Amino acid sequence: MIFNKTNLYLINSYFYSYFALLIRLSLDLFDLDKIEIICKSSIYFIFSSLHSTFYSFFITNFIIVIFELTILGANAAIPAHGRFPTSQVLCIHHRYYLIDCGEGAQIQLFRHKIKINKIHAIFISHLHGDHFFGLMGLLNTMNLRGRAEPLYLHAPKGLQEIIILQLKYSCSILNYPIHFIETNQEESVFLFEDEKVTVHTIPLLHRIPCCGFLFREKAKDKNLIKEKIPTDLSIAGRIALKKGEDVEYNNQILKNEDYTYPPNKKRSYAFCSDTVYLPSLIEIIQDVDLLYHEATFTNVHEKRAAQTFHSTGEQAARIAKQANVGQLILGHFSTRYYDLSPLLEEAQAVFPNSALAIEGQTFPINE
Ligand SMILES: [Zn+2]
Ligand SMILES: [Zn+2]
Repeated sequence: MIFNKTNLYLINSYFYSYFALLIRLSLDLFDLDKIEIICKSSIYFIFSSLHSTFYSFFITNFIIVIFELTILGANAAIPAHGRFPTSQVLCIHHRYYLIDCGEGAQIQLFRHKIKINKIHAIFISHLHGDHFFGLMGLLNTMNLRGRAEPLYLHAPKGLQEIIILQLKYSCSILNYPIHFIETNQEESVFLFEDEKVTVHTIPLLHRIPCCGFLFREKAKDKNLIKEKIPTDLSIAGRIALKKGEDVEYNNQILKNEDYTYPPNKKRSYAFCSDTVYLPSLIEIIQDVDLLYHEATFTNVHEKRAAQTFHSTGEQAARIAKQANVGQLILGHFSTRYYDLSPLLEEAQAVFPNSALAIEGQTFPINE
């Protein structure tokens, strides 16, 4: 934005509107219905002109608790038919987690307006090039864009060496720290956590060591029974109730169980990258809301799938059905398929709630 006189006046207006709105909202801080009405009428207009931090803060704390997956690439081996190699972004509470980073991932991030320096952690399933050849360019761009925050990079043994070698011979210095964490491809183990999510590995069977990742939302606060809450109960009192505590109010005790109901469900996402058909997955990913499973081939090429340690659409669907997942996303499509509908059809015959991983498509999981 150019800071001429007109724009400065506009910015001032936006800020006044913003603070007026905050005051209004503070009166109804926990009344989500009212907040939603206010939002529908004005918030998108105002916040689109503000710094993304305000937008993110507001959305995160008051409106929608986001848990959604965006596909950046889902082709196998090489870019083809307008499809990029594997890469996707999971957004949880406005924090971004990049999963695999095939060639062109940063182009896709820009195209889909995902700010690269909001990526908090990266997870690489294995060291076949179609899953990490986009990483070096992305790390460099993060540096050029002024990143200072640490980056958590979870990957198989060897990736740290590859990156350090490339930095060395290109005389590049990154001005932000990278924390390398080696993954375990042998068993499902705890890998990462922050205040919102935990991540465990999912052992897969492929031509080289490979694992998937299981993201689980952490426990949430309880919900208030709005009709029962005294209108003059303080914000601190409301927060204490949400945390499960009893609260003193006008010389009486508000019993927590009388004023709250259980938290919203914890959402989950399982990413199963390159693998041969592997029924041992089922127990690990049981009941997840969303499953991405590779489906490199159709059943016509089942033999080829087994030889190359990949799966078919039908096999992915069998895993989804037996694991009782909410929705299945198929990806890692062989370049031999221009039309992906046969792949989808064979999966839907077994597990109807199947979809194709199409670049730019977002799969939200609602609370
Ligand atoms: Zn691959
Ligand atoms: Zn592979």
